[in-house]
Amino acid sequence: MGSKRQKKTNNAPAPGFRHQKKLGQNFLTDPEIVRGIAAASGADRDTLVIEIGPGEGVLTEALSDLAGHVTAIELDERLLPILRVRLFNRDNIDIVQGDILQTDLNTLIPERLAAYGLSEARIVGNLPYYITTPILMKLLEENVPAGSVTVMVQKEVGERLAAAPGSRDAGAITYTVHYYCTVTPILEVGRECFTPAPKVDSVVVRLDRRDAPPVETADPDRMFRLIKTGFMQRRKTLLNALSALPMYTREDLTAALAAAGIDPSRRAESLTLQDFARLADELTEA
Ligand code: SAM
Repeated sequence: MGSKRQKKTNNAPAPGFRHQKKLGQNFLTDPEIVRGIAAASGADRDTLVIEIGPGEGVLTEALSDLAGHVTAIELDERLLPILRVRLFNRDNIDIVQGDILQTDLNTLIPERLAAYGLSEARIVGNLPYYITTPILMKLLEENVPAGSVTVMVQKEVGERLAAAPGSRDAGAITYTVHYYCTVTPILEVGRECFTPAPKVDSVVVRLDRRDAPPVETADPDRMFRLIKTGFMQRRKTLLNALSALPMYTREDLTAALAAAGIDPSRRAESLTLQDFARLADELTEA
């Protein structure tokens, strides 16, 4: 993975624009990093790119240089006139004003692919950090039809995404991401590469959707419920943490852990995805 500190600034913010901290408005200023993210996305002329949070359009421009079409989804209406002015001479971009979490990407993506005669979709964004996890969970759990997701996230989150399930840095999201995708760290980006500078450093990661999950389980939802509950109180033993689930008695859990060959005193973070899949298959619900 590369590492970038800012060299020069040519993306001056629009004069008079007041950045809203609560919307995660830290805009990229280094053109080299912007081009690096666009290139890492793998977009080409056959690709529809869905950009999350275009801000003032710096990454949108770089994506439009590579992609067949870019649909950029921005929540803050104040940015729409700025985007229209910046991008007015480009004919392969459309801006949608809305909340990415409320956007039906399973409808929007096939519609845009058909409208522009494109063969694949990819998702790209310098994410608003206050909703990183909900965005990623939406993209994964709703099976949004996109081959890859290339995103800038807070460095600690990037480390969690790239951690191996069953390692110290793993969190519940690590298991979900690894179930659906392979994860490649692309680039570390210092806080000084944004305006205004956030309080944290960042990292760009690329998630590529797997053709098939790396483990088999009869009921993936049950497996994810166990993972989330296990990590909700990650300092507790697995048996104690999973006792929070109302549908199982302690006896059910003890028997299932034994049948899956998992010591009940282990903690969630020490289990692999295979361990959780085995445990899920040993538990049935009344
Ligand atoms: N892409 C620009 C860049 O790299 O400079 C801006 C990135 S900034 C970190 C995040 C952007 O996401 C902001 O423009 C913000 O207004 C937008 N945003 C925040 N919440 C959003 C939401 N729920 N849906 C869509 N966009 C959102």
